[in-house]
Amino acid sequence: MPEQQPRIVILGAGMAGILAGIRLQDLGYQNITLYEKADRVGGTWRENTYPGLTCDVPSHFYTYSFERNPDWTRHLPPGPEIQAYFERTARKYGINELTRFGEECNDASYRDGRWQLQFVSGHTDVADILIAATGVLHQPNYPEIPGAESFQGALFHSARWDHSVGLEGKRIGVIGNGSTGVQIVSALAGKAALLEHYQRTPQWIMPVENGRFSEEERAAFRDPEVLAKAMNVDEYMAAVEAYTQSITDIESEASQAMAQACRDNLEQSVTDPVLRERLRPDHLPLCKRLIFSPDYYQAIQHPQARLVSNGIRAIEANGIRTVDGELHELDVIVYATGFHADAFMRPMSITGRDGVQLSEFWQERPKAYLAVTMPGFPNLFMLNGPNGPVGNFSLIDIAEHQWGYIERLIARLDAGECDAIEPSMHAMETFEEERVEAAKQTVWYRGGCVSWYLDAQGIPSSWPWNFQRFVDCMAEPDWSAFNLPAPAAASHT
Ligand code: NAP
Repeated sequence: MPEQQPRIVILGAGMAGILAGIRLQDLGYQNITLYEKADRVGGTWRENTYPGLTCDVPSHFYTYSFERNPDWTRHLPPGPEIQAYFERTARKYGINELTRFGEECNDASYRDGRWQLQFVSGHTDVADILIAATGVLHQPNYPEIPGAESFQGALFHSARWDHSVGLEGKRIGVIGNGSTGVQIVSALAGKAALLEHYQRTPQWIMPVENGRFSEEERAAFRDPEVLAKAMNVDEYMAAVEAYTQSITDIESEASQAMAQACRDNLEQSVTDPVLRERLRPDHLPLCKRLIFSPDYYQAIQHPQARLVSNGIRAIEANGIRTVDGELHELDVIVYATGFHADAFMRPMSITGRDGVQLSEFWQERPKAYLAVTMPGFPNLFMLNGPNGPVGNFSLIDIAEHQWGYIERLIARLDAGECDAIEPSMHAMETFEEERVEAAKQTVWYRGGCVSWYLDAQGIPSSWPWNFQRFVDCMAEPDWSAFNLPAPAAASHT
């Protein structure tokens, strides 16, 4: 380690920022600050607190590899337990001490070989290395429904849940049936006097069990060997591989098997043939992000629940009016209408080398070489940035692979082999051409649906190859892709 350590700033203290902070300390870096706009760590798990919030990744895989959690109570981790896990892990590894909370970065500009950072509060900082760990789905999408402001009841987005509003005995309308809307409806069925689920496009549902771990099991998992055996990593990785294969090859056996499981679930779980047809999607399973749910079909068949598949015309003082003219009287409306999935670090303004603006670089679509770095933006490294794998598997695992890659890039900086690392424009363009071509072969593109996976041009933005290819790409950088200038006389001062 050189005498003078590089100044490293991490933006965001969610899952990825905590990971970066822990790993950098492990490597011996001390000049690190995390900036977090909120008042505590946790990212998406801090912001989402809706009823039924659950991650659909098996609990023991939804942790850092170096910090397993024997205490999960369910096979799929409940949101509050995930938030508690991140808070506990941040405390254990001293992340809170490194973090300035309540600081939102609104401008990062690369000048004189360093990142000049400005914050909404007026605070400023300078970094040699900037890690963007700002999350993927964090800007709520508010639908433009006429009359929403006239509603007399409570109306809020799923990621801004208003816990001051009681739900027992209320008439509740949930708009949107992605993973979020499905979880909310499953949790509220039987609690509300009336629960209406507004469905614009039917979704395929993959049945999953979500059992409880007994006290004895949890006690046994304290032994890492017992936990490792119970996890059966090989089986899980095979499932991830089969999942990514079924996305990239719709003719594959894996794809057919998953599609059949969804179809069987609909046939076997919904008894009323009319309701069953209203719930049946006309696109291929996996085209939209697959919904894993043990209980949605039961919930929507609850006597107090109602599927509304007529379009929404307007929101009025007393409820929602659908296009057939019916007024659905409601006390609470929940927008489970998703997020602006193309935001990433934005609305922060980012200016790279020679004044290049991120907004210009991303004019067509958000893009990054192997999802981590961008030409013109030296020493800026992203975790869970654009075009990385996003699916029904652990984003923590994805971030760890990406972090391994970033560590190798930082090692070259640290060795004094260069002052700045960025990929060449040629590497970026070649990657992007291949990526877009591959994306057009995926079920996201060919499956006959619209989803948040698609960019403004209708091209799927997620990693379009199988998981192993991602793992291989992250294992060792292809150094021919990087511009590595000779180090200047003084570095990291
Ligand atoms: P989403 O998947 O984007 O779903 C948004 C829903 O809102 C869709 O049903 C959409 O209908 C509907 N919608 C949007 N605008 C509308 C409008 N103007 N009128 C009527 N309906 C409208 O959002 P999400 O459910 O919040 O999930 C987002 C992602 O978060 C997930 O895909 C997943 O990656 C993550 N998530 C994960 C978990 C987990 O278990 N790991 C849980 C929750 C969320 P259309 O389909 O017709 O567009």
